[in-house]
Amino acid sequence: MPQSRSVARLTRRDLLGLAGMAAAGSGLACLGTVLGYLALDRLISPSRPTVTLSPPPTRPALFKQIDRPGILTRQDWGAQPPNHEAPNESGFYSAENPDGWRVYEEDLRQVYRTVVIHHSVLYEGDDLSTMRAIQEQHMDLRGWADIAYHFGVGQSGQVFEGRPLTVRGTHVQGFNTGSVGVVFLGDFSVSYPTSLQFEAGRRLIDWLALRLELTHLAGHSDFNGDTDCPGQHLREMLPLLAQSAGLTLGTGGYVAAQG
Ligand SMILES: [Zn+2]
Repeated sequence: MPQSRSVARLTRRDLLGLAGMAAAGSGLACLGTVLGYLALDRLISPSRPTVTLSPPPTRPALFKQIDRPGILTRQDWGAQPPNHEAPNESGFYSAENPDGWRVYEEDLRQVYRTVVIHHSVLYEGDDLSTMRAIQEQHMDLRGWADIAYHFGVGQSGQVFEGRPLTVRGTHVQGFNTGSVGVVFLGDFSVSYPTSLQFEAGRRLIDWLALRLELTHLAGHSDFNGDTDCPGQHLREMLPLLAQSAGLTLGTGGYVAAQG
């Protein structure tokens, strides 16, 4: 087809330039006839990973099959300790300080219902530097006591411990209580997760769903409509993550905080 030939003649540099124009919201109307969004998406690497899923096993079968994934601890990646003087998450939770650092006293299986998926947008060239940069941004610029998310999933397939799972996150405004925060490192409005990254995230979420008895999986933008997070390319893969873990897609499992 003439359209494909015209696409094929464009260099990668041309395509990146066109992607930049698209991102800036200019030239979309004329581009649309030559380069559909999908054609453009496919030509910018990395391409969407190929994912093959078998039907999810039953929960009892999962108990036998899922091991805890390897997770790099905070100490291992050089996380800063929490700052309980942070302006936007200061002190500890109480009736008088409902926005304070909240440590869940309950069995975590009674706390968590939904896993919320994010992208970091920020990427510093490697996973370790990116985790450190995110924590710095959240503590120094956002004024939170710690990194917002409970886990990070790197492009190398490495999984990182974020904020302890025993502590409420700050990753989904108005819906943090009972929501696990998982961030995939990268900007998935412009590219896809790597195959290693997607697989590591899938295994992490399978394990969390089982361990915490989760019911739902949602993207950040499902809860907070003013964000594009986790980016269109990761968002279109959320049904696969939900299917793999036996979770329902969407916000329907959220239970409002008690007190
Ligand atoms: Zn987000």
